[in-house]
Amino acid sequence: MKTTIFTGPQQLEIRDVAAPVLEPAQVLVKTHAVGLCTLEQRLFKGAPADSYPFLGGHEVAGEVVEVGPLAATAARPGDIVSLALLTRCGTCYYCRRGMDNLCIRNNESRARGQLPGPAGLSEYVAAEDYQVYPTSLPAGSAADRASRIAELALAEPLACVIRSVQAPPQQFGDLALVQGAGIMGLLHVQLLRQRGVRVVMAEPDAHRRELALQAGADWAIDPLADDLSAFLRARSGGYGVNAVFFTAGGAPAIQQALHGMAKGAWLCLYGSVHPQGPVQIDPNLIHYNEWVLTGSFSHTSASFQQAVAMISSRKVDLAPYVSERVPFPDVYRGLQRALSPATYRVVMTFD
Ligand SMILES: [Zn+2]
Ligand SMILES: [Zn+2]
Repeated sequence: MKTTIFTGPQQLEIRDVAAPVLEPAQVLVKTHAVGLCTLEQRLFKGAPADSYPFLGGHEVAGEVVEVGPLAATAARPGDIVSLALLTRCGTCYYCRRGMDNLCIRNNESRARGQLPGPAGLSEYVAAEDYQVYPTSLPAGSAADRASRIAELALAEPLACVIRSVQAPPQQFGDLALVQGAGIMGLLHVQLLRQRGVRVVMAEPDAHRRELALQAGADWAIDPLADDLSAFLRARSGGYGVNAVFFTAGGAPAIQQALHGMAKGAWLCLYGSVHPQGPVQIDPNLIHYNEWVLTGSFSHTSASFQQAVAMISSRKVDLAPYVSERVPFPDVYRGLQRALSPATYRVVMTFD
């Protein structure tokens, strides 16, 4: 079978390797669709030298070929499954506290002696049983089925956003600010709308603001041109927003959000902060206003299961975020397209 090795900046190797030999607790999956996430994009653009070689591809949907005799899964050959390929050890301090998103072994190679990386950009994947999430796609035409499977490859980003949106306690009719209308910001918008929350999108790019409105944002404003805090207060009787979800915009965006928060509001740092920089905050504001400043990183097994259920049952529509489907093995072109600001998610498809 063919697999993809990231060997250096702008360098990929599509190598012919032996198909994985199934271990008793594993599930062999024929790959159908792989999302090219920021992890793969970063490696392609250029990461520190010790990041290479790396077997990329962690957002995977495919079809079960074989189930090992000791694999604890309901999946059966022929089933369409979504794979959570980031490793979770299940035994570290954080896994045992129910915070498996923070597993200390979440970057380790899945198999001893194998190159590091989730290796989803391969024609076959031998997944651990705990990484396999069965789906329940209704029967449909071949074209419809292919696009649903491409959506299932986005279960991982959706699972990350589900975890983020569930962090702050929310009430129907609350007002939230989402910063950044990339795919992660738009997924926040969709899920917040489902929770009865009114959403303000702050995004400098006019085209992306338009997409945010299409995704269900009540308002979309330019945080560089408009007075954000005045806008938020005007939409909330003067109180400010109940929750902020930062997905992009760097330290200045976070600083700006602090001026538009109601008492009791939560600020959730979903995204990492680029450009890096300090955010100044008077601790008394946290004290007197009972603000909660928190972060959300990656997904848990719980949020992944919720994501797969929502995609399978069409409770969320991810089709608009599959910007392009590029046939494997042209991963190089796929990544070039993924790096274009005009695309949301590029999905590699397999015959
Ligand atoms: Zn991802
Ligand atoms: Zn762990």
